[in-house]
Amino acid sequence: ILPGPVAGGGRLATLGVMGGGQLGRMFVHAAQALGYQTAVLDPDATSPAGRVSDYHVATAYDDEQGLAQLMQRCEAITTEFENVPAGALATLAAQRPVAPGPQAVAVAQDRIAEKAHFAACARAGGVGPAPHAAIVSPADLAAVPDALLPGILKTARLGYDGKGQVRVADRAALAAAWEQLGRVPCVLEQRLALRDELSVIVARGADGAQVHFPVQRNLHRDGILAVTEVVPGGVSPVLAEQAIAATGAIAAQLRYVGVLCVEFFVVDDGSAEGTLVVNEMAPRPHNSGHYTIDACDVSQFELQVRTLAGLPLPTPRQHSPAIMLNLLGDLWWRDGQPVTPDWAGVLALPGTHLHLYGKHDARPGRKMGHLTITAATAEAAQQTARAAAERLG
Ligand code: ADP
Ligand code: MG
Repeated sequence: ILPGPVAGGGRLATLGVMGGGQLGRMFVHAAQALGYQTAVLDPDATSPAGRVSDYHVATAYDDEQGLAQLMQRCEAITTEFENVPAGALATLAAQRPVAPGPQAVAVAQDRIAEKAHFAACARAGGVGPAPHAAIVSPADLAAVPDALLPGILKTARLGYDGKGQVRVADRAALAAAWEQLGRVPCVLEQRLALRDELSVIVARGADGAQVHFPVQRNLHRDGILAVTEVVPGGVSPVLAEQAIAATGAIAAQLRYVGVLCVEFFVVDDGSAEGTLVVNEMAPRPHNSGHYTIDACDVSQFELQVRTLAGLPLPTPRQHSPAIMLNLLGDLWWRDGQPVTPDWAGVLALPGTHLHLYGKHDARPGRKMGHLTITAATAEAAQQTARAAAERLG
C-alpha cells in the first residue's frame, strides 16, 4: 500500500488503527508524515489519536457498524493496544490486511498463552520465562509449588502498568490475593531479584524480514515505566545479543507481522552479568521505544506504518545516545494543588524533545507525555536528564 494519492486520483491511501491512545497518536503522526490518511477507532470522542487523525470512528471496539466504517475508510489496519477484542480483529482481518494478526494479539493478551509461547521458544535454545504456574481453579491454587513463593500473582488478562498484580509472601496471602482479584485466571510468578530490566523492539514484515532497535534499559517506579536509557555501554553485549536473538525467535515463531516489543529481566543469580528471563510482550510499539522518534533515523512508529503497508524495512540506526523520561500526571500537582510544570526551563536544556499527548486531565499515574534527551555522549545525556528531572520537581 503505497502512500499518497491512490492511482487514478480522488483519494489518499488510508491506514487505520484500533485504539486512540498516545501510541495511536504517534502512529498517526508517522503515517501522516509519509503521506497517508489515517482513521482511528476509539470510543472516546476526545482520544489523543482521534483528535489528530483524518477520521475518527467513535464507537465501541466490537461495534459492527464502527468496524464496517473503519474498513470502508482503510486499506489496512493495525492496533495500538493489546486488549482489542479478538473477535473485532478477526472481523477486520476477514476483509482487510490486519497487522499484527488476531492470533498473535490473542497470545499477547493472555499471560498464560504468552508464557507458554516463551517456554516453547526457549526449548529451541532461547531465553525462558520466570518460574510460574497458571491458576485457573482452586485445585491449581492448592498445587502451587512452594518454590514460587514469595511471588507475584498477575491476572492473565487486562493487566498493565503494574495493575492486576498482587505481591504475595506465602500461601495464605496467595489465596487472599486470588479472592481479591475475583478468582479470574491468573499466573503466579516467582518474585525474582532484578538487577536490570531490558526491552527489545523488532519489526517484522509479511515476508519474514526482520529488523530491530538497540536493546533498551528500563527503570520502573511503582510498576510503571519511568526511564528508558539507550546509551553506549548501557547493556552488556552478551545479554544484548541474547535478548535480540530471543526476541527474533519469539516474533518469527508467531509469524508476527508488525512491531513487537519483548521485555526482559536481568536476574541477579550471583553470576558476573546475571541471567536473562523473558517477562512479557506487547504486540505494538512500546513506551520504551519512544526515544526512537528523536534518536534514530527511523522510529518504531514509522516501522509500524511500514510493516502494515508492506514497505521496505531498513535497519534502524541510532544516531544519538538517548534517555527518555515518562511524564506522569503527578507532575501537574504539588501538595494537592494544581501546578504547571516548568516547560520553559526544560526546553532551555540542549537536546530535549518534549512530547505531550493532548490529554486534558492530569491524573496521578496517568501517562501524559514523555521527554527524550539526546546528546553526543552518555554522560552528557545523563547530566541533562538530571537537570530536566530537577526542573520538573
Ligand atoms: P505490566 O503488564 O504491568 O507491565 P509486568 O509483568 O511487566 O506487568 O510487571 C510490571 C513490573 O513489575 C515489571 O516491570 C517489574 O519491575 C515488576 N515485576 C514483574 N514481575 C516480576 C517478578 N517475577 N519478579 C520481580 N519483579 C517483577
Ligand atoms: Mg511490563
